Amino acid sequence: MPSPALPDPDSRWLAALDRAASQRVLHDRVEAAWRLCREFHDTLPRPRVWLDLRGKAAGQTHFGRGGLRFNPVLFDENRHAFLVEVVPHEMAHWLVHHLEDGHRARPHGHEWRTVMLRLFGVPPRTTHRFDTARSSPAPHRYRCGCREHAFTSRRHALVEAGRVYRCRRCAQTLVYLGRQVSGTPS
Ligand SMILES: [Zn+2]
Ligand SMILES: [Zn+2]
Repeated sequence: MPSPALPDPDSRWLAALDRAASQRVLHDRVEAAWRLCREFHDTLPRPRVWLDLRGKAAGQTHFGRGGLRFNPVLFDENRHAFLVEVVPHEMAHWLVHHLEDGHRARPHGHEWRTVMLRLFGVPPRTTHRFDTARSSPAPHRYRCGCREHAFTSRRHALVEAGRVYRCRRCAQTLVYLGRQVSGTPS
């Protein structure tokens, strides 16, 4: 197991911060991760940071906008994991992209994994396990004969009250699978 290059933040301290203070800590963490990458690649530009990501993804590296996006709802519920894992994950994308030929590298390929392991000392996981019930507008999963459907809590409540939905494509009655718990790669 690699040993993390950035300090391990105290979970209790983090949980006690109000939202604004916790978001400042997130910004500081991005800054610290960026400085670490600069030791390796000294022309790496500083990414801008937004907390405007919605839905299931925890973070996203947006090369067009020139920065990193984070999911404020998931951050609020998973502060420690964001600092320890999601920030290095996105910063590793940022770094790899700015390496020579980096734009040709696969998103979670060898280069990205190497940065995660060797530079950040963090296991290179590509999915998170955060509960996305609050952050995702449609966390309820249903299945028909041809695909999966995502329902909002409101629509799901109608099903629980007895309403039946059918798939428009295959005409089968939708069957409830449960709440979505695991997230998507970022
Ligand atoms: Zn169907
Ligand atoms: Zn990723």
